[in-house]
Amino acid sequence: MKSIAEIKPLLESPKKVVITMHQKPDADAMGSSLALYHYLIQKGHQVTVVSPTNFPDFLKWMPGADGVIDFESSNDRAMEALKGIELLFCLDFNALYRTKNMAPYLEKLDCIKIMIDHHLEPQPGFDYGVSDTTASSTAQLVYETIYILGDEKYINLEIAQCIYAGTVTDTGSFRFASTNAKVHRMVADLMDRGLKHEVIHQAIYDNFLENRLRFLGHSLLNRMEVFYEYNTAMMAIPYTDLKRFDLQTGDTEGLVNFLLSIQGIKMAALIIDRNVEVKLSFRSKGNFDVNTFARKYFDGGGHFNASGGRSTDPLEKTVGRFIRAVEENEELLQ
Ligand code: 5GP
Ligand code: MN
Repeated sequence: MKSIAEIKPLLESPKKVVITMHQKPDADAMGSSLALYHYLIQKGHQVTVVSPTNFPDFLKWMPGADGVIDFESSNDRAMEALKGIELLFCLDFNALYRTKNMAPYLEKLDCIKIMIDHHLEPQPGFDYGVSDTTASSTAQLVYETIYILGDEKYINLEIAQCIYAGTVTDTGSFRFASTNAKVHRMVADLMDRGLKHEVIHQAIYDNFLENRLRFLGHSLLNRMEVFYEYNTAMMAIPYTDLKRFDLQTGDTEGLVNFLLSIQGIKMAALIIDRNVEVKLSFRSKGNFDVNTFARKYFDGGGHFNASGGRSTDPLEKTVGRFIRAVEENEELLQ
């Protein structure tokens, strides 16, 4: 994969471009994609952002979000957007399977593929890109890319808002170890460009429906299990809970972090029956590597301290497999 700096000549004449991200995009996937969108349209390109699936309502405020095409619900429009593209930007993922039903189409595309990502173990198949696992967020990498290309004059308020949204969420509001001085310098620069950070925080974190809080209370009270001997906490959510509280895409975001706030807990797992598939989210503190854990046991991956996976077994069986995996990792969890 050639470095991201080398895409500069490709951007000198107008191109047909699609930007895409991982399925069920979070604020970093959406924020980085829309920041790049607002940059590329100023450069005169014809750009469409295509999401493999729908995205949470609490991201609809993002500038440009109303133009994002959902590959599942608006398949015809997505296919039209993908037809004849010259450049495909892949943001916040590093393996095509993360785009779910879109993956077979992306594989067949005869165009230049560019990855901008910060997850571990990138797959081959990308022509240009940046894969920096030390970056706080993909949004930060988009910001750095614009600078590398010498185009920082294009960083307007829309771009600043999108980049801030991706960074604040992926750093757990600037608390994770990935939040270094460079991240804070970037935020200072975004503020100099007009960013009002409290507006973004409110849009993301003060925008829940009542049922989401009731679900949180129910889950903490009834679904949480703590295995002190393994320094592990777990929550298994049956599909009936998702129905009962009428949960929407994104409503379980952040739930797993509550588990990690228990004294002494090193690993937290949120296991959700999404009906047809069980999704798992892992978080850890310190030296327990949940990227390896997710890859080894649950067909997943991600970062050292935050990862995800999936299982086609029913919820109970998946929970059983998780507990056995924890037992196998007893020493690493001490
Ligand atoms: P979350 O638990 O928030 O869904 O995901 C945590 C991190 O792991 C995110 O960076 C996400 O992109 C990554 N991740 C989640 N699920 C998967 C998966 O199935 N495969 C891989 N490779 N990464 C995942
Ligand atoms: Mn990210």
